[in-house]
This record gives sequence, structure tokens and C-alpha cells, in this order.
Amino acid sequence: MLQKKGWGSRLKDLFNIRNYDQAFFEELEELLIEGDIGLKATAAVIDELKERVFKEKLKNRLEILAVLKDLLGAKLLTHSLVPETGKLNIFLVLGVNGVGKTTTIAKLADFYRRNNGIRRIILSAGDTFRAAAIDQLCEWAKRLELPVIRQSHGADPGAVIFDSIDSARAGEAQLVLADTAGRLHNKAHLVKELGKIDKIIRSRIGDGNYKKLLVLDATTGQNALRQTEVFHEAIGVDSIILAKFDSTARGGIVIAICQDLGLPFSFTGTGEKLPDIHPFDKESYLESLLDKQ
Ligand code: GDP
Repeated sequence: MLQKKGWGSRLKDLFNIRNYDQAFFEELEELLIEGDIGLKATAAVIDELKERVFKEKLKNRLEILAVLKDLLGAKLLTHSLVPETGKLNIFLVLGVNGVGKTTTIAKLADFYRRNNGIRRIILSAGDTFRAAAIDQLCEWAKRLELPVIRQSHGADPGAVIFDSIDSARAGEAQLVLADTAGRLHNKAHLVKELGKIDKIIRSRIGDGNYKKLLVLDATTGQNALRQTEVFHEAIGVDSIILAKFDSTARGGIVIAICQDLGLPFSFTGTGEKLPDIHPFDKESYLESLLDKQ
């Protein structure tokens, strides 16, 4: 892991000292794999880069770096995740404990209120496994002056979500942001619990808009791919939010996830405060990936 520190500067060094020959491409390939970009995306990027360099007779370091950036950018999948107007929207927020789910829920509520004029929002404390998760969500709800639907620690999360949808319908809420427990170590349990919640939402959503959002911690590297596979297999993921992007120069895993699983990214989390959430921006992501030390 320590090796990955300074990945951006090693990339720059490689571009500085080499001729753009076979050895250069081999080293670049290794570096991309080490940067979590994944075998599939790396192989494609190296092939395309070689072709462009030879065909266009590129010799200038900055030109070649710009082509690399373009090629990596072309592998990224992003989309805009906005609640639909005139409908009840349910965003079920998934992810392993500690990745930033609860904080992301609060940030999203604040973001949609500020940017999309969505005011009738309900927070749903679906992580009943940890008492602290319920308390934390209630704390955010208080700060945001939003209603929260909760039950006691250990209650059935499906029942909490059920109540949340009922309450949203009664109050004509536009958006329910629902927390879930992320006990990845017990995959069978996770699949069963999420399957049950999914069934309840589907049976209650009517013509509403239901999306499953996965929160990943940008500092986890390869493990983020594994987490995405598990959640996607369990319940089907619609959109990914990359939290803690401020804490790392890594993040190549985003490209691997887009390429290997075909899932799009919608937001980045860049701190612990409410405004620290931004629609996923390809350009700043690529700059941060390639330029950060
Ligand atoms: P959960 O267990 O998935 O609900 O995670 P939490 O929302 O409780 O977040 C875990 C920790 O990560 C808390 O200390 C948060 O303040 C912190 N955190 C969440 N999002 C971000 C982020 O984008 N950047 C940073 N630096 N910290 C974050």
C-alpha cells in the first residue's frame, strides 16, 4: 500500500526519463495496474495509447500525457443523480460500515435542498444494527431540520423503510433517503436483509423513482471493487458515490469499476461537512488522479 504513495509523481517521472518505446509501455502498464485501474481498462488504454503514439508520431511528453488522460476519461461512466419531480423518490443508501453512508445521506439532503429545491425530505434510519447509526442520523436530521423515521436498535429494517414510505406518502414527501446496515462479513445475511428491503420498496413504490446508491470509501483501493461486486450481486446498484476523495491520491479503482461492472458514479464526497459533496466531475477526477503526489 505504501508503494502507492506518490503514484502521480512516479507517473510523471516515467514520462520524464523515457523514450516512448516498448519498455516505457511495459512500465506504464505496470504502473496503471498498481494504481488500481484494473487489468481490462489498463490493457485497453495501453493498446490505444500505443496506436495513437505511433500513428500520430507523438514525441512530446505533454501531448502523450494528454492522450493518456483522454483515454482514461473515456473509460469513466458518470451520470447525474437527481430526484424526479412530481414523484416520490426513494434512494436506498448501501455500503460497508464506516464508508460514509450516514454522512452522505445528510450531504445529499442538503445538496438537493440547495440545488434542486427539494424540501420535503425524510431520513430513514434503516441501519438498525448499530444504535450509534440511528443516533447519528437523528443528529443530522436535527441539524437539517428534517423528519427522521426510526425504530429501536435491533428492529426490523424492512419495517423502518415501510414506515418511511407510508410517512412520505402521507406527507407528500419528495424524497426518502434511507440508511442500511453494511455487514459485509456476513454475506448471506446481507443478501437476505437487502433482498427483503428491496421487496418492500418495490411493493410500495408504485410509480415512484427507486434508486440504490452505493457509497465507497476512496481510500480502500481494490477492496472497493470487491464491495461493489457483492452489493451489485445482492441487490443491484444504480449509482456509486465516492466518499473521502479528499483523503487520498488514489482512486484508480473508479475506472476499474466502470469498466468491469459498467456502473456509473454520481458524486464525490470531499470532507466531513454538509457542503462537501459534488457531482462527479470527470475532469477534476482525472486531474486529481494524474496530478496529485
Ligand atoms: P457509515 O458507517 O457508512 O454511515 O459512515 P459515516 O457516515 O458514519 O462516516 C464514517 C466517518 O467518515 C465519519 O467520521 C465521517 O465524518 C467520515 N466521512 C464521511 N464522508 C467523508 C468524506 O467525504 N471525507 C472525509 N474526510 N471524511 C468523511
